[in-house]
Amino acid sequence: MSQIIYPTTNLYATETLTIERGEGAYVFDNQGNKYIEGLAGLWCTSLGYNNKELIETATEQMSRLSYSHMFGGKTHQVGMDLSEKLAQMVPMDDAKVFFGNSGSDANDTHIKMLRYYFNAIGKPGKYKVIARERSYHGVTVASASLTGLPPNHTHFGLPFESLGVLRTDAPHYYRNAFPNESEAEFVDRIVNNLERLILSEGPETIAAFIAEPITGASGVIVPPAGYYQKVQAVLNKYDILFWADEVITAFGRTGSDFGCNTMGIKKPDMMSLAKQLSSAYMPISASVIKGEMFEAIKQQSRDVGVFGHGYTYSGHPVACAVALKTLEIYLRDGVFEHAEKTGNYMQSKLKAFEQHPLVGEVRGKGMIAAIELVANKKTGEPFNDGAVGSYAMQACQNNGLICRAVAGSSLALCPPLIVTEAQIDEIVEKM
Ligand code: PLP
Repeated sequence: MSQIIYPTTNLYATETLTIERGEGAYVFDNQGNKYIEGLAGLWCTSLGYNNKELIETATEQMSRLSYSHMFGGKTHQVGMDLSEKLAQMVPMDDAKVFFGNSGSDANDTHIKMLRYYFNAIGKPGKYKVIARERSYHGVTVASASLTGLPPNHTHFGLPFESLGVLRTDAPHYYRNAFPNESEAEFVDRIVNNLERLILSEGPETIAAFIAEPITGASGVIVPPAGYYQKVQAVLNKYDILFWADEVITAFGRTGSDFGCNTMGIKKPDMMSLAKQLSSAYMPISASVIKGEMFEAIKQQSRDVGVFGHGYTYSGHPVACAVALKTLEIYLRDGVFEHAEKTGNYMQSKLKAFEQHPLVGEVRGKGMIAAIELVANKKTGEPFNDGAVGSYAMQACQNNGLICRAVAGSSLALCPPLIVTEAQIDEIVEKM
């Protein structure tokens, strides 16, 4: 055993796999075994491994300017170019971009921006955030508090109450619908619950509602049709902002450019981006807000003397250069269109698993999917043993496929966006 405290790991586990190198959609371990990447690293290596353009971009940027900070308005061209490109791409009005290092810190930044913003417009009591059960928003103190998965909470003493985190239903029809309840009835029921929560807490205390358009780590939950339209109608009624956590779903993952567009979410007020922003060649995140919020924050920073938030690596020039090149490649090479087509192919191929006696549901959209394993196919009863997903994941790995067990007994797939139909066949065959 090494000295590493492994992240998100049962620390009794010994080291399980030593990955040595990657090439395209494949990785190789230290024994020379080859694996096809069914999860794009951790939902992030969209352009695969050993992309020469990204490597050259990073190398060139490191030689020119390996580091510069952005405090006090000090800047560099590549950071400005990246912010401009992102502002053009996101489905938001007059977007402004704050750079960080990870999805978790992007969400922390947003919590602080919300508070700064509502203070600026004279509504300091409007600070609570509604997050959903079975959501994943990261693991820092604030983002873990937004996360709706109990294993990320237990024994960490998270400050849910002082942060003002409120919890509402997961839009998970397969698991949470009542017997004989239609999808439309299910949506109406959980959106009514949301409205009741808002009214009982007081709309004047609630700043935002955060959602992953399609969840990832909690089992790839694709909400039923009409859900987001109804949610947005309620939020608009009570003047509550829509915060899209697109850390997984942005940049072609779900069959269009952004998860918001795939799911019919109209102009989110805030968006969190990371992972595929740089195809994971460098750590970088972006907390994006609409222009109207920025104007109020700007005004307040003059009164306070500073917008007192920033990381040493906010706008790291190498990360910005790599992210900018990643976005250029996406647009130049039609990566989103390719992913839409190959994603449809993947979803159609995965349908075959619906016949399997241990599969309760196959779900997904575009290039993200999950297969939920159940003890009883007819009733959907889950396995008692919460590690069933891990056993199945290990079996896939023994077959040369990397995937991930999520929410106990689902197997998630999220291949690099560049995979071919033949590689989808290989993933399905190995699974
Ligand atoms: N938000 C979502 C939707 C995620 O899926 C993740 C990570 O998987 C995060 C936030 C946290 O990102 P990071 O692990 O980069 O902190």
